[in-house]
Amino acid sequence: MRELGHHLVSMEEVQKTILSHVSEVDAEERILADCVGRVLRQDVTAQEHLPPFDNSAMDGFGVRTGDLSDVSKEQPVTLPVGQRVQAGDPGDQPLVAGEAVRIMTGAPIPEGVEAVVPHELTTYDDSNVTFTQPVRDGQNVRRCGEDFRPGDVAMQSGTVLHGPRLGVCGTLGWARLKMSRSLRVAILSPGDELVEVGEPCGPGQIRNGNAYSLRGALAGLGAKPISLGITPDRPDAVREAISQAFADGADAIVSTGGVSAGDFDFVQAVVREDADPAFVFKVAMRPGKPQVFGLYDGKPLFGLPGNPAASVISFELLVRPALRKMRGETLVHEPRFGVRFPFAYKYPSGRVFLLRTQIVPDEEDPRGGFRVEKPGAQGSGLMRSLATANAIVILPADLGQVEPGDVFPAQWIGGRP
Ligand code: AMP
Ligand code: MG
Repeated sequence: MRELGHHLVSMEEVQKTILSHVSEVDAEERILADCVGRVLRQDVTAQEHLPPFDNSAMDGFGVRTGDLSDVSKEQPVTLPVGQRVQAGDPGDQPLVAGEAVRIMTGAPIPEGVEAVVPHELTTYDDSNVTFTQPVRDGQNVRRCGEDFRPGDVAMQSGTVLHGPRLGVCGTLGWARLKMSRSLRVAILSPGDELVEVGEPCGPGQIRNGNAYSLRGALAGLGAKPISLGITPDRPDAVREAISQAFADGADAIVSTGGVSAGDFDFVQAVVREDADPAFVFKVAMRPGKPQVFGLYDGKPLFGLPGNPAASVISFELLVRPALRKMRGETLVHEPRFGVRFPFAYKYPSGRVFLLRTQIVPDEEDPRGGFRVEKPGAQGSGLMRSLATANAIVILPADLGQVEPGDVFPAQWIGGRP
């Protein structure tokens, strides 16, 4: 068991310690359609030229530039229209000298065609086309290989494949790719006071909301949640739930509650005894001071505080980067950006304050930044602010007071797209 003393440890130090103790899960080959949102475990390179052949960027007329060298409004040039090429044609008929070619967007450029004049700039009928402006060599021609050449790396291992990136892989001909397999993450909810959502709450009982906050948070990581239900506040029950989770194939366990020094805080006690290494941190962050982290045969257990807002903030700052590393992502830390406070704001100093609030586009910022909306109450047990919060603003430990106009770093809740 390693405990970094009773003094407060910085959030960055805890992030570093956790990251250094987790490693990537296995990779597997998937068909491209199954790769959305997953993480590449190979480079995606171009194997051929893209575009694969010179082709037209416009619907118009393919010409030899020399045929239009002296053209002007006053001296129009009319050429007979020979062949017509459309997208999908082989385009293997050369341009006949003194003619123009009717050509469509994406159609291969026939030999001899040096430029394409968009049809809007011409007048034409079935057999002739008239030009009134000169044309530059290569105008409206998309060159073979101008986008990618064989061997070019389009994406590196560790890239998340979302949105257009899937299309890039498809265009480059990658029908199967080596990807990280999905993480299986068990959600542990110890607490004698907890009841499942949907069950009636008796005296002294509350609903297991944290399990759903965690489910929501895992969705953005493409992780499969394993629900362990509610675990009684007994060391043997906590121990049993942990072994059950790993026996069920969990790559990681995220647990909330039971990490402070209360009489029934058995997660801390069990992890201290069983995990190797095991860490109990007092982190210089608010909320989220008590944290437990341990490895079971190399698999991590994240013991987050039970208070709902503390568990959400802890997940975003400490767990999400670790799960990103486990699923092979290169960029594990959430990017931050400045947000403006239009009002004064007081907060408790002494630890980094992680303000959960809504941020909106700042109409006063010509550079397109964000501003903070009035934050709701920030008690670590309060849920209301989480109903609207989309970001966490990171306020320095030594300040305690924000002045109107101040800008501080923020990050999205739920991760970057
Ligand atoms: P603990 O650290 O176990 O004492 O929990 C701190 C606070 O978080 C207590 O008020 C608990 O009732 C609450 N809590 C613990 N687990 C959950 C949960 N799964 N869902 C909602 N609240 C919880
Ligand atoms: Mg508890």
